[in-house]
Amino acid sequence: MKSVQETWELLDHYCAPLRPERTGLDSASGRVLREDALADADQPSFSRSAMDGYLVRINESASVLRVEGEVTPGMPSRMPDTGCALRIFTGSAVPDEGVSVVMQEDAERNGDRVTLQGKRGPEHIRVRGVHARRGDILVSAGSCLTPGRIALLASAGMDRPMVSPLVRVAHIVTGGELVACGKTPAEGQIRDSNSPMISALLLEAGAECIFYRRINESPEALKAAIGDVLDSGVDLLLVSGGASVGDHDHTKPVLRDAGFDLLVDRVNSRPGKPLIVATKEGLPVFGLPGNPLSHFVCFHLFVRRAIARLTGAEPPALLRMRVANAPAIQPNPRESWLPCRIQCDGSEMILQPHPWRDSSDLTALAQVQGLLRVPSEGLQQNGFGEFLPSRKFES
Ligand code: AMP
Ligand code: MG
Repeated sequence: MKSVQETWELLDHYCAPLRPERTGLDSASGRVLREDALADADQPSFSRSAMDGYLVRINESASVLRVEGEVTPGMPSRMPDTGCALRIFTGSAVPDEGVSVVMQEDAERNGDRVTLQGKRGPEHIRVRGVHARRGDILVSAGSCLTPGRIALLASAGMDRPMVSPLVRVAHIVTGGELVACGKTPAEGQIRDSNSPMISALLLEAGAECIFYRRINESPEALKAAIGDVLDSGVDLLLVSGGASVGDHDHTKPVLRDAGFDLLVDRVNSRPGKPLIVATKEGLPVFGLPGNPLSHFVCFHLFVRRAIARLTGAEPPALLRMRVANAPAIQPNPRESWLPCRIQCDGSEMILQPHPWRDSSDLTALAQVQGLLRVPSEGLQQNGFGEFLPSRKFES
């Protein structure tokens, strides 16, 4: 049996970044950038007015000036003559030095004359290079592309950045008791809730399911499905259910027979103990215990980490947060990961763990915003704990 930490270290070792590809910015959202995005020019690339108003020489002494023309955004900059002003707009280019913008609210226009009040200074000019210099790193390799970062790439002319591909996943779901969620289960049957959960989780994690099969409990069917997966060129395989040691749990022996190396055959966590991790020729495989809460927790603890490593991103970070009613949380000999929601207590965000029932408790998933780690020795005396958010904070 491996600890959670040991399992993470194995995943870090065995899940190498996939070969990057170029993509258009339209399809870059959520992808991991695989090259540094450098400023191709100073930002801003030319000094520009931050206001609608008038451009004058900085040492202009007259307060009534002749308006000798205008500079609209998109035109090259011009230096106004002494005794003159140029009508100017937000974004209009201005010379790098020696000028001042007087905002429209401090000017009174009368025909081709303008009377200027207000002090003169550089404050209404966005000086070239004040935000970034040419060659500066705007977005680092390994960053997840958020809308804001996509805008930065666009500003630097990177219309086809090098990014990680979506991780291609195969998902095999086992269980003779399962029926599709649109069906009414007969007695003894249950609806398959793990399949839609996994496809939603994959989408959020930057992966796509390109191979899906639901099979009954037979080892032959599992063997055949895994054989087909090996031919399909996926980057990651998930097998739901059958990860334990019962008579109908076939994932472990079938993986062994198919030539996979077993890296983890159980993990010291609650829920999620029957987790399997194996690998063959660079293909990582997870055998996920079928109970829905175990499924959710194993995905967040381990599958997300594998996907992060495959895409060249940092694994999801743990946040230190205060826990509501911490002394009441009983530790377990296994490290526990409790579903929590975040509540606002006055001005502080505080974790509210869902009461632990068992790993089949689907209702715990209704409001979960992440998982609280409860070490076997219990939470810290000060009532703080480590929290793994279920949605990633972009690093
Ligand atoms: P297993 O890991 O296959 O032994 O399954 C453990 C428990 O999870 C059993 O009660 C199963 O009925 C349940 N289970 C397995 N697969 C699913 C699924 N796809 N959706 C919902 N529950 C499941
Ligand atoms: Mg089963």
